[in-house]
Amino acid sequence: MFLSEPAREALRKSQNIGILTGAGISAESGIPTFRAKDGLWSKFKPEELANIQAFMRNPKLVWEWYQYRRNIITEAEPNLGHHALAQWEQQHDNFTLITQNVDGLHARAGSQNIVELHGNILRNRCLTCGNVSEIEEVNFKGTVPLCTCGGMLRPDVVWFGEMLPPEALNAAFSAAENADIFLSVGTSALVHPAASLPEIAKSSGAFLFEINLEPTPLTPYADAFLEGPSGEILPKLLTQWQTERTK
Ligand SMILES: [Zn+2]
Repeated sequence: MFLSEPAREALRKSQNIGILTGAGISAESGIPTFRAKDGLWSKFKPEELANIQAFMRNPKLVWEWYQYRRNIITEAEPNLGHHALAQWEQQHDNFTLITQNVDGLHARAGSQNIVELHGNILRNRCLTCGNVSEIEEVNFKGTVPLCTCGGMLRPDVVWFGEMLPPEALNAAFSAAENADIFLSVGTSALVHPAASLPEIAKSSGAFLFEINLEPTPLTPYADAFLEGPSGEILPKLLTQWQTERTK
């Protein structure tokens, strides 16, 4: 992997590392974006199911879709990109992983300091009392899982039209502002506010790496664009970081 001298210097001097990951890293583990033209649920667009109005209208339908997605996710495995990020975190103190993904694969790879911008599909939240629970505790009585308080449970993810969790958003902005290297990994850099994080990092002085299969609107702005699968690029970048740090 070719890295320019400024990129290697940025790795060498890195103190605060910020990472933003998106659908691309999950796709490499076989998790689709659910926008495919074929498949069981192809007649629905995600935005038609992932919103509170659709859920209130037909919670059973929305739950069936989420159970289908959960099954795909629980059968998927973290890939080499997820593992490289988990190893990197173990070797460096100030390391913040921000993800737009809801599949929990970063945690399964061993990452710990994870900022989940869009929630986590493997958790439920009660519409009545707000209690958040793991899926193992789901009680599928009838058609829709219920909380112990009797309220309806929904997946603990951010739906279309909803605000991002403020704590996660604040943590993400703060990590971007403090980063001296920032990696945008497998994200189209189109959906705000996540898309603004690399820009914030760069305008706060970070060296901006972008890792993606193809150029994005962020690419002209990146200090280093590394084209390819994150499962190939991230392990190489970690090795390069380790090499630079020993200099
Ligand atoms: Zn409840």
